[in-house]
Amino acid sequence: MTSAVEWDNQWIEEGLLKVRSNYSPIVIFETTDPKRLYQLKEYVRSNSELRGSEYVFVYDQWEGLAKLNPTAPGKEPEPYRKAVGNSSLAKKVEEEGAHLVAFKAVLKEVDGFLKKYRTIFMVQNVSENREAETGLQSALRAWAIDPNIVAKGSMVFLVTADADRICDEFTRELVVILRVDPSSSRERQAMVTATARELDLRLDSDRTGEVVMATAGMNLHQLESILLESYHLTKAFDLPAIKNLKSALVKRSGVLEVRDPQNGFDEIGGYQVVKEFVTRYIINVLRYSDRARRYALPLPKGILFFGPPGTGKSLFANALAKEINLPFINLVTENIYSKWLGESGQNLRNAIQLAEKMSPAVVFIDEIDRFGKRGGGGGDSAGEETKRVFSQFLEWLGRPDRQAIIVGTTNVPEHLDEAFTRTGRFDYKIPFLYPGPAARQEILLVHLGLKQGLRKGKPPLTVSEGELVGFLKQRVVPLTENFSGAELEELVTRAKRLAFDRGAEGLEQEDFLKAARTFRIDRERRQEIVEECLEQARRFTDDQAFLDAIEKEMDIEVGN
Ligand code: ADP
Repeated sequence: MTSAVEWDNQWIEEGLLKVRSNYSPIVIFETTDPKRLYQLKEYVRSNSELRGSEYVFVYDQWEGLAKLNPTAPGKEPEPYRKAVGNSSLAKKVEEEGAHLVAFKAVLKEVDGFLKKYRTIFMVQNVSENREAETGLQSALRAWAIDPNIVAKGSMVFLVTADADRICDEFTRELVVILRVDPSSSRERQAMVTATARELDLRLDSDRTGEVVMATAGMNLHQLESILLESYHLTKAFDLPAIKNLKSALVKRSGVLEVRDPQNGFDEIGGYQVVKEFVTRYIINVLRYSDRARRYALPLPKGILFFGPPGTGKSLFANALAKEINLPFINLVTENIYSKWLGESGQNLRNAIQLAEKMSPAVVFIDEIDRFGKRGGGGGDSAGEETKRVFSQFLEWLGRPDRQAIIVGTTNVPEHLDEAFTRTGRFDYKIPFLYPGPAARQEILLVHLGLKQGLRKGKPPLTVSEGELVGFLKQRVVPLTENFSGAELEELVTRAKRLAFDRGAEGLEQEDFLKAARTFRIDRERRQEIVEECLEQARRFTDDQAFLDAIEKEMDIEVGN
């Protein structure tokens, strides 16, 4: 790191406050940033109260147990070798100090210090806990309620990526768990100013503020790389460049994709009833949120779109973000599940934190049913992990202070866990059926670039636009009953391809009929799907008027 870092110690102080308020002498700091560890050690050495500790131990599964001299800043911890009492135990620590196996011995060793002297015990880089070998949880539970430890003012700090991986639910109740922000805005502010100074870049306070805002969720190392890269590319801290670099970084995490929303409502054919509903209950409330607050209207935070594939659910989510002018974040559920045990929970946790930092934003979760069910998975550790991911997600969904507006879609609402569909998690659950005749006509026109006001590419035609529109209405629309929007789009593509392959001047009417006939669609099955979807919709909502309108829209014929 080239710039001097001005750390914001707020997270440590928050932990200490909890200890002092007698929540627990044990604090687990969740972070993946190695710099935070360094910061914690420095804090212990510089804080007048902590410096008064009689012993400071640091344990790392690679380095083993070490003793830190609390009054010698900058001095590296020294390996701890001394035998206290039981010499065979000390020997074991010495021999196996670098291995996790020795952790058990370390814990026993430190136990005595914590109870007899004012001691700080820091544990770092414990990424997973094999309880049988380490006994860590048992130790934490015992320490959490030990009156001697509290009386001495001893403390235990654990730094880990994921508290869930080292403690079970019961233990979590007995300790303080704090998630460390990748960076606070104060830290980013300092970093931006310092980097600008180093680069001899003049930066007004507005621009600094914008950069600080736009880089929320990044750690300081990432921030610095982004700043330097932006400078390298544009000779400035250019906001669009910074946003792009951040998106690229976020994408590397694999779980989130940030996009500017592409299409608005005008590129969606038909679905007038849903458009009106979404505009009234979601868009307007968010767009005029101050006014909505004055009326004490709740702001929508979760919406579920359900219905068969290709009916425009993702399209609507995108349009929603565009209409309310919010970033669109795609949470790629399949990338959450890692083959590495314990990483899935970690992935989701990071994604949630990042998404919250970037919010208000629309967080889109396609096929939300992938999160499975509470009881899902086997009894093995992979099954445990799936359950953990599920409950983490549910916790986020139900969090009252959630900033992200979650738009989830599913083709199989019946597979969703009841916890998802219970009232409160999603404000609205909106069914997407196959488009009715008028909607099909409009969708065809959208994809032919013939819808008014759209700047989509128009293919060459051998008939006049007016004639083609009439032909689609009379001949093609009736052939496409229970086609999805995606299939209608595909129909247009196939028609274009037929004309293209023929080497024709342009599309002929016949091309559309030929293209339509290439689809094999099981109408009966689709009719059943519509019925199932409507039945599900009735189960989800008591807004009968809305459902009636949706059903009615399926029968609306093409107007003139
Ligand atoms: P879903 O999310 O329901 O599976 P999508 O929104 O991904 O469906 O739809 C796939 C594609 O089909 C869209 O990108 C769009 O091109 C087309 N499409 C679907 N519905 C419509 C519609 N009502 N108007 C225009 N295009 C549509």
